[in-house]
Amino acid sequence: MKADIVVAGAGPAGMAAAWSAAKTGADVLLVEKYGFCGGMATTGIVGGILGHYLNEKEPAVGGFLKFLINRLSEIGGCEKWEDAFKKYGIGFDSELLKFASEKLLLEAGVKLLYHSVVSDVKKYKEGTLKAIEVVNKNGKRLVEGKMFVDATGDGDVAHFAGFEYTKGRPQDGKTESMGCVFKIAGIDEEKLTEDAIKTARKKLSEMRNSGKLRIFNEGLGSKGSTIRKGERSFNMTRFAGDGTNAVELTEAEISLRQDSFKIFDFLKKNVKGFENSYISAFHINAGIRETRQIKGLFTLTEQDVLEGRKTDDSIARCTYWIDIHCPFGRTINAHLCCKECETIQPCIMLEKYKDYLPSKNRLYPPENDWFSIPARCLIPEKSKNLIVAGRCISADHKAMGATRVMATCMAIGHAAGIMASIAVKEKYDVFQVSVKKVQDILTQQQGLF
Ligand SMILES: Cc1cc2nc3c(=O)[nH]c(=O)nc-3n(C[C@H](O)[C@H](O)[C@H](O)COP(=O)(O)OP(=O)(O)OC[C@H]3O[C@@H](n4cnc5c(N)ncnc54)[C@H](O)[C@@H]3O)c2cc1C
Repeated sequence: MKADIVVAGAGPAGMAAAWSAAKTGADVLLVEKYGFCGGMATTGIVGGILGHYLNEKEPAVGGFLKFLINRLSEIGGCEKWEDAFKKYGIGFDSELLKFASEKLLLEAGVKLLYHSVVSDVKKYKEGTLKAIEVVNKNGKRLVEGKMFVDATGDGDVAHFAGFEYTKGRPQDGKTESMGCVFKIAGIDEEKLTEDAIKTARKKLSEMRNSGKLRIFNEGLGSKGSTIRKGERSFNMTRFAGDGTNAVELTEAEISLRQDSFKIFDFLKKNVKGFENSYISAFHINAGIRETRQIKGLFTLTEQDVLEGRKTDDSIARCTYWIDIHCPFGRTINAHLCCKECETIQPCIMLEKYKDYLPSKNRLYPPENDWFSIPARCLIPEKSKNLIVAGRCISADHKAMGATRVMATCMAIGHAAGIMASIAVKEKYDVFQVSVKKVQDILTQQQGLF
């Protein structure tokens, strides 16, 4: 198989990249491990979509996100854009997202190849890819391209191609903990009064502090990846491990599902309103927050986030904050990884490297502001025809704690697709692409940067 532009991974970043490239008339193939699009939004049923919210009047992200939300709202999968962007997190129906995103991509002219895992690459020479190798029901196959976008979340393509990366924090290489979301339906929302919620939270907190439930919050779910009455999605679990290690990933799957069931069982037996509830969905893929950050021409840092730095080669805006889930996977007194963490267990970071940790009082970009994602963060050092998009861009452990959310990943992917398309049209290496041209096309496609 071949296409001018091959995008690997159909998550928030990959969908956006394939869509924007196809919209400029490019020949695009989107390769995905599962049989549907959405990435963490569908395989991890995480939500709502975060990172677009600047204020009630102005979103920080437009472009692909806006088109996707409009398409999804047409089939009852979320609110329409005019209302949705005013919410801090955009709630959506993760099942309908599979349908709406696929339709949007097919209409734009994107070709899809599902059930295909990228397992290696073929190179012409260092820095230049000839093809990605995929493993699927046909066996091992090569997918040739002129430009490649790595939107696998983990930077698999860049890794197989031998580009440099970092993983986790510099002191011990530990990444943010994994986690998962599950959904409970059949909840009697009327019975779930303020009082019932207060009592439930108290009980959950006792269960957590006694170690009987491994939960990092006492939330009673939200309308994150569901908008259905009587259904809520729950994001309460953690597991420490490396999301690029199959053995650790397997352990994560088992542990997270078991913890999810325990939480459900507890809620059903102890909380008013949950008496007739049932698990309506488990995650399909454990939620992975952080793995490889591919070393690019520029690396975003904590200071870029906190100062709301803007760059001339800005291709996306990020408004999100440095949200680091305890890399040890702890759940008691360890909500955020920061200087002020109150864990009573030994922590090498608090003991030896406290200065490195962000302070819980300084995690956000300036109020009502955003920081730039520079185009250079998407270009691996020495790369000629590979672009990275989504959570694996060049950012340090702290900055990626902000850039990893879905709206931001979509905005990054949107620009990546345009960069790839210009590179193919003008026969450029990716670092030669004019960022001004990328910005012009982003504007035509309602992207914000
Ligand atoms: C527990 C948890 C809760 C979260 N909550 C939220 C939230 O509420 N709101 C929010 O906005 N963000 C949330 N996030 C963050 C967000 O979901 C991710 O960071 C974001 O989805 C990353 O987008 P991406 O496109 O880079 O990667 P992904 O969403 O991971 O998509 C990558 C895609 O590539 C595919 N793929 C991977 N490897 C291969 C391969 N080798 N071959 C072929 N295909 C491959 C995957 O199947 C997937 O479809 C959460 C994350 C976690 C883990």
